[in-house]
Amino acid sequence: MPDLEVLLSEERIHDRVDELAARISADYAGAEDLLLVGVLRGAFIFLADLARRLTVPHAVDFISLSSYGKGDRPTGAVRLLLDLRSEIEGRHVLIVEDIVDTGHTLEYLKQSLGARRPASLKTCALTKKPARHEVPVEIDYLGFEIPDVWVVGYGLDFEDRWRTLPHIAVIDPTS
Ligand code: 5GP
Repeated sequence: MPDLEVLLSEERIHDRVDELAARISADYAGAEDLLLVGVLRGAFIFLADLARRLTVPHAVDFISLSSYGKGDRPTGAVRLLLDLRSEIEGRHVLIVEDIVDTGHTLEYLKQSLGARRPASLKTCALTKKPARHEVPVEIDYLGFEIPDVWVVGYGLDFEDRWRTLPHIAVIDPTS
């Protein structure tokens, strides 16, 4: 059993998601056609909580990507595994990510969704690891900055486990 140490408690996450939802609701007030794009699989819990706290009408869709690379160290190349079901041209699109690590996934998403001519394209990420960024990363709505550690819980996994922890914990896979 690996060591798990709480980094972000359930209560802190809850409060921050409330704040993000309030900001997003205010910023998109009056926007007719907001589409949340959740990045599978890690963002599914964050997206579910965030979406239910928005006070503006919105639709939800999902996309799935994979980074080439071994274990927890991606190489920077990103591959589309599952595309959106919705057309996004002319719509207000908000990408909802679990974690921004090197930044390659978000950069890929911004380019590929941007090319489909949405009315606007913004990003929301629950966490980011600034020490690991390899490309400039601009996040419109950010939950937390975290250190360069592997985290699990609240949707995030290690080898497909720990996704349903209510908090975010640091895992030491070697322990
Ligand atoms: P990128 O390096 O492209 O910014 O991030 C790629 C993906 O790596 C993230 O969307 C996430 O799925 C995964 N990832 C990066 N750091 C962590 C981490 O600490 N824990 C987990 N579970 N996934 C991570």
